[in-house]
Amino acid sequence: MEPIVHILIPLVFLLAIFYKLDKKYVFYLLPLTFIIDLDTYIPGTHRYLFHNLLFVILISTIVYFAWDKRAYFVSLFYLGSHLILDFAEPGVALLYPLVQKTYYLVAEITYYSGWDLNLWFGSMSITELPTDYVAYYFTTYAALFLILLGVLLVAKYGKDLKKFFKD
Ligand SMILES: [Zn+2]
Repeated sequence: MEPIVHILIPLVFLLAIFYKLDKKYVFYLLPLTFIIDLDTYIPGTHRYLFHNLLFVILISTIVYFAWDKRAYFVSLFYLGSHLILDFAEPGVALLYPLVQKTYYLVAEITYYSGWDLNLWFGSMSITELPTDYVAYYFTTYAALFLILLGVLLVAKYGKDLKKFFKD
């Protein structure tokens, strides 16, 4: 999943549900939503070296000692959101290094000549992970999310923009 989706989805959910939370936690910790993907740059380790619970707890503990308990929970949420959003095949190695496997969810409802429901959990040994992994930095979906966000921003601030260009 591309960085923009890893950033936008948890950010918007956090702002919507914990709207009273001090924004310095929300924005200063935001880079945590994608640091898990740094294992993309360590050949042959993507989806397990940093994509696991131990890494999430380790980083959040550092955040706790560097800042406070509230920052710890925001960190857990941001890092955990990355694991959840990557839970599609080939999934994430939740229990690495204890268990050398990724886990993933398949949840699809489709209609072709009849309804088809696919709902199951899968797992894969880390040795079976694709090595020719393509890292997507931007996709059509990210563009569509941004267009949708743009529509809302224009709806909210359109008048101010008009005023700005008139003056
Ligand atoms: Zn990832």
